[in-house]
Amino acid sequence: MLRPFALHRPASAEEACGLLSRLGEDAVPYAGGTELLLLMKEGLLRPRHLVDVKRIPGLDAIVDGGADVTIGAVVTHRAVERSAAVRARCPVLASVARHVANIRVRNVGTVGGNLAFADPHSDLATLFLALDARVQLASPRGRRELSLDDFVRGPWETARAADELLTSVTLTPWPERTAAAYVKFGVHERPTLGVAVALRLEPAANGAASVAEARLAIGCVDPRPARVPAAEARLRGCPVADLEDSVAEVGARAAASVDPADDLYGSADYKREMVAVFTRRALRAAAARARGVEPVARYQYAVVA
Ligand SMILES: Cc1cc2nc3c(=O)[nH]c(=O)nc-3n(C[C@H](O)[C@H](O)[C@H](O)COP(=O)(O)OP(=O)(O)OC[C@H]3O[C@@H](n4cnc5c(N)ncnc54)[C@H](O)[C@@H]3O)c2cc1C
Repeated sequence: MLRPFALHRPASAEEACGLLSRLGEDAVPYAGGTELLLLMKEGLLRPRHLVDVKRIPGLDAIVDGGADVTIGAVVTHRAVERSAAVRARCPVLASVARHVANIRVRNVGTVGGNLAFADPHSDLATLFLALDARVQLASPRGRRELSLDDFVRGPWETARAADELLTSVTLTPWPERTAAAYVKFGVHERPTLGVAVALRLEPAANGAASVAEARLAIGCVDPRPARVPAAEARLRGCPVADLEDSVAEVGARAAASVDPADDLYGSADYKREMVAVFTRRALRAAAARARGVEPVARYQYAVVA
């Protein structure tokens, strides 16, 4: 049952931060409410004031700034999926957004709510690491920007101060000649595992394409998502034609980089094995795209975006 609360509807980020600062521990930001209202119904959170951020002008915008794309905190997953700018600049993100949660959550759940909640089972946080995400925060003390890696500190824990509002997240789209894929696997509502791979390609001396730069991010198995520098190093310089030869080692390096715990999503050993398996699959999907072929990977309980 929901306990009584006061709903505040500030007209600006400054006003929202002022409210959060003045009301202190009794107040929390409220966007789509898909996480917040659940916790309140369960009695796990009992805020007496909700500061509704959905109507704050500008927080619902997606801006293509040329070198980067900025997504306002209250943009919904559905809006991300349908955005022409996201489809053009970060097509894998548009595709991932289509597979977040269910249509009800996608319609009201926001990008800012997803990142601020810092559930370890977040597709966005994992993919955004491979897109060099920076989050923008506003507070009565002014504005600041943090890398997503610095923002997400652990499960349900971020660097956000109680009176700070997440206003937007900025992504650096991969250059045009990039082959990428995001693979998520899960049997529960939320993903058990997410793997993001991006391979920036350039022509080698012999004219054949090779990997100039690689990004690999693993999420949902550890307390926070992380890139895997050892696996990225293995891919750098690899000719596209030889990518298949690297998948086993890249999968092994990714598995060695995680330190999962036993929980309802599976045992630590199982998760580590799944990281190896799905890193190989994500890499094969990206490698297929590098050859101009759309992957036709169909795995049970998994999605290739
Ligand atoms: C059934 C289910 C399935 C899901 N499956 C997936 C999935 O497959 N992949 C995935 O990535 N995610 C998944 N999610 C998570 C989903 O993406 C989030 O629930 C949603 O994006 C949260 O946004 P919201 O606007 O509803 O946040 P709210 O519930 O409104 O808020 C969540 C938290 O963030 C805080 N907050 C909200 N906005 C701000 C802000 N602008 N600044 C500071 N703090 C803020 C709130 O105070 C609260 O603590 C799932 C969720 C559910 C319920």
